[in-house]
Amino acid sequence: MKYTPKEIAIIGSGLVGSLLAIYLKKFGHKITVFDRRPDIRNIKFSGRSINLAMSNRGWNALEEAGIDSEIKEIAIPLDKRAMHVNGKPEYYQKYGKEGEAIWSISRGVLNRKMIDLAEEAGVEFRFEEKVWDVDLPEAKLYTGETEKGEWQEYKYDLIFGCDGAFSRVRHKMQRRSRFDYSQDFIDVGYKELSIAPNDDGTHKLDKNSFHIWPRGKFMLIAMPNLDGSFTCTLFMPFEGDISFENIKTKEEAKNFFKTHFPNVRHDIENITDDFFKNPTSAMVTMKCFPWTYWDKVALVGDSAHAVVPFYGQGMNAGFEDIFTLNEIIKKHGDDWRSIFSEYENIRKPNADAIAELSYRNFVEMSSKTADPKFLLQKKIEKYFASKHPEKWVPAYSRVTFSDKPYAEALAEGDFQEEIMQKVMKLDAIEEKWDSTEVENYILSLL
Ligand SMILES: Cc1cc2nc3c(=O)[nH]c(=O)nc-3n(C[C@H](O)[C@H](O)[C@H](O)COP(=O)(O)OP(=O)(O)OC[C@H]3O[C@@H](n4cnc5c(N)ncnc54)[C@H](O)[C@@H]3O)c2cc1C
Repeated sequence: MKYTPKEIAIIGSGLVGSLLAIYLKKFGHKITVFDRRPDIRNIKFSGRSINLAMSNRGWNALEEAGIDSEIKEIAIPLDKRAMHVNGKPEYYQKYGKEGEAIWSISRGVLNRKMIDLAEEAGVEFRFEEKVWDVDLPEAKLYTGETEKGEWQEYKYDLIFGCDGAFSRVRHKMQRRSRFDYSQDFIDVGYKELSIAPNDDGTHKLDKNSFHIWPRGKFMLIAMPNLDGSFTCTLFMPFEGDISFENIKTKEEAKNFFKTHFPNVRHDIENITDDFFKNPTSAMVTMKCFPWTYWDKVALVGDSAHAVVPFYGQGMNAGFEDIFTLNEIIKKHGDDWRSIFSEYENIRKPNADAIAELSYRNFVEMSSKTADPKFLLQKKIEKYFASKHPEKWVPAYSRVTFSDKPYAEALAEGDFQEEIMQKVMKLDAIEEKWDSTEVENYILSLL
């Protein structure tokens, strides 16, 4: 296959932009990455801010680029959930089969490492250079200090927009006819908080667990960092009874944490300080189509499909975009028009599927966990899956521990839901949920 070297610009040095740079460099292209932010490697930070869960799809993409083992050194495997339910002792739920785990990794630490690796591979980075405009048919981009000030023009053969959920590149595509676009914010926000390490540097909670304090309308989660700390994320409605809006003073914050999360009491000072220091952020699902313009410009990662984080798949999906794009480039070589067309047609249904799955998970967590019928349904599914692991793979495993397309994972979930709706209509299901009759009924429907 012929790969004529091209001059390629990538806008955004985030996780997706830096991994894409590494991939494209391998084909012999000249890659320049622009970012409006300063070089993250020169910014002093504790390494505690925001961590992400990396799962199968993310690892596949890193492995193909040959950098998975280096990244594993800065990640911590989590093989189970640790559930913190009020009035019950902490209990654990194994994620999957032996050896299956998600990995906690600091977004900042990962991003620094990926930029280092890209630079080692010969990629050029231009930090503190914001892209204000893109000429799509000419593949030109314009950077400068301000929107109204003087701009510098650059001409490329191809441009990739990896500039996140509020992408400038996409913004330019949006002005074209027949470009579909939607964005939906949810009424729940999030805030990062931290639990400091013990004095001897060890973790205060189990290090190899994804910690969850489910509380219906709101929820706290925590993932470990390498330095012994945990990064927690509090998800809570912006407005309403229990909400960010309603916690105004330090005293109110302390009471809130003492009442709802008693086992983080030892870190209450830290946590309440963080509560007022850190911003409350919004979450959005963003969809668009097409993702490409001729053979000139393509969107990859959050710029093409931002999802709410309740499946921990945003970055994984972006990395899978790159994995797929790489396969397609190997098939079509220099034919970028075919590459872009196949790329967006394969990835779009999968991006829509993970958006849907992530949104459903949010609805499930926030409004269904108090519904006894829903809880019974989940109990039956879990029981049946434990007896017939080959016949009933839970949705979480299909998304997290498999590389089956997201669209298939969604379709399979809809099929399982159809079956469960019938099961839940059985007479006296509350009494006979674990009976052979119910088991055989499910088997007959599969
Ligand atoms: C609370 C939360 C938890 C999450 N948890 C997980 C998880 O557990 N697992 C997971 O897989 N995903 C998770 N995600 C999603 C994940 O963070 C994103 O999907 C991922 O960071 C997207 O990467 P990206 O490179 O596409 O975009 P970004 O990370 O947004 O990077 C975009 C880059 O482009 C630059 N840029 C933007 N505009 C311009 C411009 N005009 N000119 C130049 N540069 C520009 C920005 O400075 C930035 O560096 C989570 C998201 C949130 C909000």
